[in-house]
Amino acid sequence: MPDAPIRAVIFDFDGTLVDSDAALVAAFAALGIDPTTVTFGHAIGEECERLGISVDDYAEVYDDTAVVPFDGVGEMIAGLGRWALCSNKHPRSGAAELERLGWTPEVALFADAFDWRHKHLGPVLEALGLTADEVLMVGDSDGDRRCAVEVGCRYVWAGWNPRTAAAAPSGVVVDRPVDLLGLLVG
Ligand SMILES: [Mg+2]
Repeated sequence: MPDAPIRAVIFDFDGTLVDSDAALVAAFAALGIDPTTVTFGHAIGEECERLGISVDDYAEVYDDTAVVPFDGVGEMIAGLGRWALCSNKHPRSGAAELERLGWTPEVALFADAFDWRHKHLGPVLEALGLTADEVLMVGDSDGDRRCAVEVGCRYVWAGWNPRTAAAAPSGVVVDRPVDLLGLLVG
């Protein structure tokens, strides 16, 4: 990793901070979609389009009381300095979950900020007033990693998500949320 200090951490939300697979699938299933056809890590608008449903209908049936943080994530967040969210999630669901969890990232951009297409880090960096070499991105999907590669920032995998750990992706996999704090020192 380069030596520039990390001034902020940018997280993906679903599958990275919260265990959300079941909640995401349940909303699709409630709209008559076969759960086995649902995939993760996409912009919600693009996944809805692929599956032939409207984002508004999806947001309507999505249960924003269902997701829970992965073990240790709450404690890790409490130990962070500056942090932000960059998520493909519907803004209504995301905002409700942030409020319920009591999390207050400095910047939280959801699918509407990216015109409902796949997210990217440019607007997040701009809002933070930081350059790519000053941040670390944490995610659980290839799309997250692509975001980091596009701008040239550091990236680690949320290995506390069992799906990510099982995939054994190349790159740095952080096993426990608390271990992330250790990467930020220095
Ligand atoms: Mg994710």
